[in-house]
Amino acid sequence: MKWKNKGHEYDDLFQTINSKKQFYLFGMGDYGVQFLNMFENEIQIKGFIDNNPSKQGTVLGNKCCYSIEDIELAGDEGIIVTMSQIARPSAIEQLKILNYVERKDFIVIEEFISIYYVYKYNKVYFSSISFLPSTVCNLNCRHCLNFNPFAKKYFVRKWDELVRDVDLFFSCVDYIMLFHVSGGEPLLYKYTADIIQYIDQKYGHKINTLRFVTNGTIVPDDEVIEKISQCKCNVELTVDDYRDAVPEYKDAFDKLINKLQKYNINYYINKVDSWIDLAPEKTDYTYMTEEELQKHREECNQTWQELRDGKLYNCNYAAYATVAGIAGEQDLEEVYDLTEFVPEKKKELIEFRLGYTTKGYTNFCKKCRGFTLENTDEVKVAEQV
Ligand code: SF4
Repeated sequence: MKWKNKGHEYDDLFQTINSKKQFYLFGMGDYGVQFLNMFENEIQIKGFIDNNPSKQGTVLGNKCCYSIEDIELAGDEGIIVTMSQIARPSAIEQLKILNYVERKDFIVIEEFISIYYVYKYNKVYFSSISFLPSTVCNLNCRHCLNFNPFAKKYFVRKWDELVRDVDLFFSCVDYIMLFHVSGGEPLLYKYTADIIQYIDQKYGHKINTLRFVTNGTIVPDDEVIEKISQCKCNVELTVDDYRDAVPEYKDAFDKLINKLQKYNINYYINKVDSWIDLAPEKTDYTYMTEEELQKHREECNQTWQELRDGKLYNCNYAAYATVAGIAGEQDLEEVYDLTEFVPEKKKELIEFRLGYTTKGYTNFCKKCRGFTLENTDEVKVAEQV
């Protein structure tokens, strides 16, 4: 999105949010549960909506789950879309077909969290941030969204750089729903447990979920697992289940799960049927006008940003592509320098985090299909090069 009224882009949307008395959460998965934890004492949540028939009619945290067809939305009710960026495009389309209007009848989770807190309490709340200690990985997935197969070398960060970034980040941000540490494969990086511990000890009170992700092929040493198990905040490990693609690691997967259970570490096994392909090697949108590129960025449901070297990067996939060497350097307009943050500019920081820039797109958008409704190309999970 292109900045037109910096610092005031969301004035009207906050008025809309303020006029609503009750909300449904569309998506009873991970995001929906985290959102409920954060907001159940803050706003009236009427219930969940979910397209999965096995969830409809069930109750979570006192909230019943409905199908979208069961809902008749009153004028003072709204829907918050609590789904991942991959699941979201079709759900948003579904809402539009039912004549619900974005930013009037429904709003996405990231916007709701940040706008609500900055306008109501003058606090900087983020939905998420992506933080990568290194890109080193033992797998070489053809459709890796870190674009590792394109990279000539791995990128490994020093301990001091990580600490500097984390400290700077939390000097600007009051609270975050999901602080996400990934890679590469984080369990191959020698300071992963230390940085998790550092974040927990200094900033655990500012985090709803501190999550890191592993490809399920590495069995960490006891010392690493012990450090993680000692954390006080809500630390979770996402274990990607790639056993179909790399069956030679089945044994390691089982050992990892046993170890997590033994040390009582929260974990979630993530098994998906397919991956999305951003397809930089066969995409060329350089013919697009500025307006068309801005539209392409707006239609992309990508919501993640990366924290690196004191900066936030407007799109984390564009940032990964730069590190992998396939996108050139990023323009200054695509990054937010946290060292220049001042408390008077909280709304500008929030706007950047929600996708606003002076240009309205990233250079990599010219080579990327994005998380759009049109990008239906699904590719095999963890297929090796
Ligand atoms: S680079 Fe790709 S994923 Fe990122 S905003 Fe542009 S189209 Fe979306």
